[in-house]
Amino acid sequence: MRMSEEKEEGGCLFCRIVSGEIPSKKVYEDANTFAFLDINPRNPGHTLVIPKKHYSTLFDMGEKDVGRLFESVKLVAEAVRKGSGADGLSLIQSNGKAAGQVVSHLHVHLIPRFMNEGPVSPEAILAPKKMPEQVLDKLASAIKDKMRPQRDSGEIKFDF
Ligand code: 5GP
Ligand code: ZN
Repeated sequence: MRMSEEKEEGGCLFCRIVSGEIPSKKVYEDANTFAFLDINPRNPGHTLVIPKKHYSTLFDMGEKDVGRLFESVKLVAEAVRKGSGADGLSLIQSNGKAAGQVVSHLHVHLIPRFMNEGPVSPEAILAPKKMPEQVLDKLASAIKDKMRPQRDSGEIKFDF
């Protein structure tokens, strides 16, 4: 049983939005993707882009499907920017409780941004941390190590 089905009575909220069981302000739909206005918009035009198929997080979805999803994100982002008259647009995509994900159906927030709100980047929610060179090296090598299986299987081509 998926995480969202355990927690949400009646099944996953966003799956129910895709099926039309729960109404939404739909702005875009194709074979794989669905986009609709957020019910609690952080700014006018705040839109959520989701895969129609249920995946809890980015880690549950294959690279090809992620690619398709982000093609639609680009398409919808252009329309949201123009339709809302925004000066900029933030993409936010949270995975897991620790990252602040509340609805466990993978979603990408498209949030129109305006100069008069005093530009604040989403990165500002966490203060930058000073890290010694050794720690940075250790982290870089831990991350590269985890990419090794994909490199060895030829799934990913590395330039280094
Ligand atoms: P998260 O915090 O998981 O990244 O974002 C979930 C988003 O879904 C929130 O911004 C919230 O306002 C939105 N949301 C929650 N329930 C509904 C709903 O029933 N309809 C719509 N359109 N948005 C919803
Ligand atoms: Zn779902």
